[in-house]
Amino acid sequence: MSDFVADLVKKVKPSATIAVSMKAAELKRAGKDVIGLGAGEPDFDTPDHIKSAAIEAIQEGKTKYTAVDGTPELKQAIMGKLLRENHVGYQANEIIVSCGAKHSISNLLNAVINPNDEVIIPTPYWVSYPDMTLLAGGESVIVETSIENDFKLTATQLEQAITSNTRLVMLNSPSNPTGKAYTADELKDLGDVLVKYPQVLVATDDIYEHIYWGDEPLANLVALLPELKDRAIIINGVSKAYAMTGWRIGYAAGPETIITAMRKIQSQSTSNPCSISQAAAKAALNGPQDCLVTMREAFKQRHDYLVKALNDLPGIQCSVGNGAFYAFPDVTKVIDQLENVDDDVALSTWLLEQAGVAVVPGTPFGAPGYIRLSFATSIDVLQEAIQRIEDALKPFVTD
Ligand code: PMP
Ligand code: GLU
Repeated sequence: MSDFVADLVKKVKPSATIAVSMKAAELKRAGKDVIGLGAGEPDFDTPDHIKSAAIEAIQEGKTKYTAVDGTPELKQAIMGKLLRENHVGYQANEIIVSCGAKHSISNLLNAVINPNDEVIIPTPYWVSYPDMTLLAGGESVIVETSIENDFKLTATQLEQAITSNTRLVMLNSPSNPTGKAYTADELKDLGDVLVKYPQVLVATDDIYEHIYWGDEPLANLVALLPELKDRAIIINGVSKAYAMTGWRIGYAAGPETIITAMRKIQSQSTSNPCSISQAAAKAALNGPQDCLVTMREAFKQRHDYLVKALNDLPGIQCSVGNGAFYAFPDVTKVIDQLENVDDDVALSTWLLEQAGVAVVPGTPFGAPGYIRLSFATSIDVLQEAIQRIEDALKPFVTD
């Protein structure tokens, strides 16, 4: 008998990052001593002034439907943010607020992809890009980057991947999972290629832009190459920067025609994002920004600790990142030496069972032989996790 599930949905994989976080939470609930380094969400609480804005919104009765694409006040705050921080100007009809940046990306793909259109996705990629592309009816064109290039797409690779079917290129900087960010020169090189292909759109997923500690200011593709503005879609949100993952507010800025198409999809699916969360997001963007600095400094400190500690473990090599909150070490030497562990997926299960530490395997990021550890947790917890991994590996693995 049919299971009634659509063929397309059968091809889609569930989100691996969410699966690991859920598994760790389930084990903890069952009384198991598990350290969860799977979840990609800040451990900080949402700052008080943002929470207060939400409480006020409830008390003032802002509890009704809003405009599908976001309240005028929040859109104004987003336009202000884009101008102030990214030096790019947008009108209200070029902005849409959605239920998280993930929803913005999904809307974008559904708005621009025709059957068999190609989406260029460099590895290692955020686990959701290929499956969202599949759901939108498109084809992912996966381009493998190398550690020698800091896991970044080069202009030559981009040009080689473009075909007459290419519709969109997905960029994410700083990157989940590598923590690497494109320099202005690197982005400019990519942009110079894109300028030559007027049928190609580019999405820049900037969700980690405030969790960045590189030497030069973080570059923005649209600010660097204004001639791409009518083909570029900026994706961002408040989840990571302001520790607001549960509030579900993300947004996109781009050409009016595309934003209008996204709004149409949203009007027939979710309608507006939560009115109370929108009031909170407005306070986040317009309010004091010192919380960003405090959180960034903590993430940098944890990064420095974790990358060094991982490199001190037998068989593990981890390069430094300059943003986001993930370490993405090469674990091939560990896999080679552990009996009955043949790949990063099996290693992640082994670490959960033998060390009680939940990590995400590299395979769903398009990077077999790696694992992702989130350092969005306290140094004490990270130290305990490292100790456990060391104790588990030591009897079996040497450098
Ligand atoms: N892009 C990347 C690269 C991410 O890691 C995430 C985290 N979930 C998102 C987008 C979506 O963020 P949200 O939907 O919470 O705004
Ligand atoms: N983006 C985060 C992660 O990669 C949150 C979970 C998700 O939406 O994938 O872990």
